[in-house]
Amino acid sequence: MEKAHKLHPQTIAAQALGEICPVTGAVIPPVQLATTFARDKNYQQRDGREYIRDTSPTVEQAEKIICALEKGEDALMFPSGLSACTAAFHTLKQGDHIVIAQTLYHGVTHWAQEFSEHYGLSVSQFDATDPDSLKQVIQPGKTKIVWLEILANPTWVVADVGAIAAIAHQAGALLGVDATVTTPVLCQPLDLGADLVAHAATKYLNGHSDVLAGLLICKQAGTETWQRICDYRKLAGPMPGARDAYQLIRGMKTVYLRVQKQSDNALVVAKMLEKHPAVEQVYYPGLPSSPYHSLVNKQLQGGFGGMLSILVKGGKDEAIKVATSTHIWKPATSLGGVESLIEHRKTSEGNITDTPDNLLRLSTGIEHIDDLMGDLNQALSTIL
Ligand SMILES: *Cc1c(COP(=O)(O)O)cnc(C)c1O
Repeated sequence: MEKAHKLHPQTIAAQALGEICPVTGAVIPPVQLATTFARDKNYQQRDGREYIRDTSPTVEQAEKIICALEKGEDALMFPSGLSACTAAFHTLKQGDHIVIAQTLYHGVTHWAQEFSEHYGLSVSQFDATDPDSLKQVIQPGKTKIVWLEILANPTWVVADVGAIAAIAHQAGALLGVDATVTTPVLCQPLDLGADLVAHAATKYLNGHSDVLAGLLICKQAGTETWQRICDYRKLAGPMPGARDAYQLIRGMKTVYLRVQKQSDNALVVAKMLEKHPAVEQVYYPGLPSSPYHSLVNKQLQGGFGGMLSILVKGGKDEAIKVATSTHIWKPATSLGGVESLIEHRKTSEGNITDTPDNLLRLSTGIEHIDDLMGDLNQALSTIL
């Protein structure tokens, strides 16, 4: 691990930390599927292992890789992105307060709405594009966690992580950043001031739309909060399976190549859509015309990510007409896979958000740019 930190992240990811099987030399370490581990002749555990819900060698491998890429002190894998995002909230006590961004992955907002009262937590929201709005709602000593996305679903508004971290820390709160969309390829939230980083590894880290998984990484492993999160996974039991961990490890090997290509494709698509007569608005912070362009440039390196959204001219009917007229862009939810997706976001989010009815969310894949553009052009022309 020490040595790995000195290598470039592209090398760490491609080699999955360079581990080989100590017995056979296989360049892919074996996947450990056993759920239970035999004790030795003295009835002692070997290698500290007993049962798979507590420690899983293949899950640990996935955790070590993301920990190195995020430059954290420890990481935990969860069976879904949402279970990783909400893990820290489960460690809070009655009377604690959390602050979440107004524009946020709807699943986290929904959890807060449905369960915070149940756990005796109070919840406030703030506008993550305006750090001062956090000052209005934060309660020093009582607020334990502030939660946001750097590029926030589904309008890709941008949060100034450093400024928000300073306000959170002054009040004694931790800052948690859901970095699913930026990935370690584009941004290192721990360096910017975050204390916890979460990933829906289902998305870019796996990258092939075939694993449900989450990851949570901490800046400091010795804190009470992190120890409580470790206890929570152990005692409540959200431990992922080894097969999913293996598939995630394989996916992470190519994340740098994929996200680079997806970012490049998305920027070209966004520039085309900005000029398209059927499009009212493009949300993509990589566009020089975006109000967030300079802030995003300050925090991201190498690209602006593969996610963008558009408002089509018209309403829900026109948006759905476009999403059902594409052939290459598949009309599906989720994001971050190598294949491009287009989605009527309001249909997925339901009424808990104020996402406009004419918004389509696009997850750009790695296909040839001409095919992506041609397909969008013909689909948009159906509403002109
Ligand atoms: C998908 C997603 C999640 C939830 O992840 P799951 O793996 O679907 O549970 C959380 N945050 C963001 C930003 C996401 O896109």
